[in-house]
Amino acid sequence: MRLGFHLSIAGSLLRAVRQAQTLGCQALQIFVQNPRAWKWRDISPGDIEAFTTARRQAGLGPLVVHLTYLPNLASVDAALYQKSKERLLAELALARDLGADYLVCHPGHAPLERESFRQAAAALAAAVEKIPPPPLVLLENTAGQGQELGCSQEQLGLIMHLAGVPLGLCLDTSHAFAAGYDLRHPAGVARLLAATARGPGLDALKIIHLNDSKAPLGSRRDRHAHLGQGTIGLEGFRNLLTHPWLQPTAAIMETPKLHQADEWRNLLVARSLIATKMLVG
Ligand SMILES: [Zn+2]
Ligand SMILES: [Zn+2]
Repeated sequence: MRLGFHLSIAGSLLRAVRQAQTLGCQALQIFVQNPRAWKWRDISPGDIEAFTTARRQAGLGPLVVHLTYLPNLASVDAALYQKSKERLLAELALARDLGADYLVCHPGHAPLERESFRQAAAALAAAVEKIPPPPLVLLENTAGQGQELGCSQEQLGLIMHLAGVPLGLCLDTSHAFAAGYDLRHPAGVARLLAATARGPGLDALKIIHLNDSKAPLGSRRDRHAHLGQGTIGLEGFRNLLTHPWLQPTAAIMETPKLHQADEWRNLLVARSLIATKMLVG
């Protein structure tokens, strides 16, 4: 399992590659636009070329692009839904041009009704039909805050089934815990993986977002913490990462970014957890 962080491209795309190298990452996740704005900034062919070359030389992979925060793929507002679909398509095209392996998206916010899941599925299918994999689009499980869709593996499985196009899965540990999957105990991990197997399928699981949680079990709140310093704790991560059913290609950390020392520590903790997996088999 390869390890990496979500890193900022503020300033330039190359900055993320350089920082990943400094940290000793094997994988990388980025946004390809400002995550909190609709404004689109074109990236020149020269910058794309420089990024793909630097990434290849750094041996970074997989490259994961995270969809920005404003698109809502399940919106009941027709204008926002249309804008969100266009944005998904534009970011997926840019992710392809950058040589990304995966594009991670959240299913969206809407009333918990079948029509909302159908809308999200249609938006994803429309993008994938125009731009077939790679990059493979991955649906991420959510904490289930407010009207957030996708807090259970059953809901994600439903969207994938309705979409009818190839889609994968990204499992965020802090979201799963906040959504009520108790990773602190083997039985909670087994429940999560069994639900994954029944819904999206274990093969669909490509990426783990490896985050501890500041929020309690079942709180439906999305608050990331450093590994081993939150409510999941090291034992929880060990239960999950050593499970034989779990074979993702990479684990990406989206831990709080205050000091670079935190990144080093999280990486060290993650490495030791994965080493346990190798020992257990
Ligand atoms: Zn996410
Ligand atoms: Zn989160």
